[in-house]
Amino acid sequence: MAAFITSTPSLEQQWAYYARYIDFMLREPASQPYLDLRFLIDHKDYFILSTNVDTQVEKTFPAERTCNYQGSFVHLQCKQPCCDELFDASPYVERMLAGMAGFEVRSEDVPRCPHCGWQLVPWVRDDTFLEGSAWHEGVERYENFVRERRDSRLLFLELSVGEMTPGIITLPFWSMTAKMPNAHLLSVNISGDSAPLQLGSKAEAIRADLGALLSAARTGGE
Ligand SMILES: [Zn+2]
Repeated sequence: MAAFITSTPSLEQQWAYYARYIDFMLREPASQPYLDLRFLIDHKDYFILSTNVDTQVEKTFPAERTCNYQGSFVHLQCKQPCCDELFDASPYVERMLAGMAGFEVRSEDVPRCPHCGWQLVPWVRDDTFLEGSAWHEGVERYENFVRERRDSRLLFLELSVGEMTPGIITLPFWSMTAKMPNAHLLSVNISGDSAPLQLGSKAEAIRADLGALLSAARTGGE
C-alpha cells in the first residue's frame, strides 16, 4: 500500500520563499566570473545574450549591451498579464520581509497588480511570461547587433550554456556561424564539448570550468 500526501503552500507561504530568494539574489554582488568576463571583453565591441535570471548580468554589463531572454528576478509582472508593465521587485520584497512572521508574509503584502488587482509574479520564463516591450527591446538589441556585424569578424562565445533551451543560444549560434562568412564559434562547457563537426575549422569547443578559465585568462591578460 502506498499513501501520497500533498499539500499546496498558501500564497503567503509561497511569497515567504520568493521574498527571501529574490532578496538573496538582489543583494548578491556581481560574482568573480562575471567580473573576469567583463575585464576580458570590456574594450571590445560585445553583446551579452543570457538565459540567466539571477540579476548577475544586469549588475555587470550595461543594459544597452544585454538581452535577458528569460527575464529577470529584478522585476515582477502581472500574472494575467493585463498590462505591458514591469515592476521593480525590491520594494515589494522589502515590505514582505519586514512584515514576515514565521514563514508566511502578511496577506496584505502579497504583491498585487495596481491595474487589475491580480497577483504579481516574478518576471521569469513560465507559461504566463510577459513578452512585452521590455523583452522585445532586448531581443531587438541582440538581433540588430548581430545583423549590423554579419560581415565583420564575429566570435560567438557560448559560455556554460546548458541543454534545457538549445533554441535560444546553442542552435542559433551554430546556424549563424555556418551562414556568416567571418564568424567563428567557441564553446566552453564543463560537461563536454559540443562544437558540431559540420562547422569544421570555424568552431572549437573547450571542456573546462568556466570560472577557472576566465580567472586564468584574466590573470594572463593583466
Ligand atoms: Zn494586472
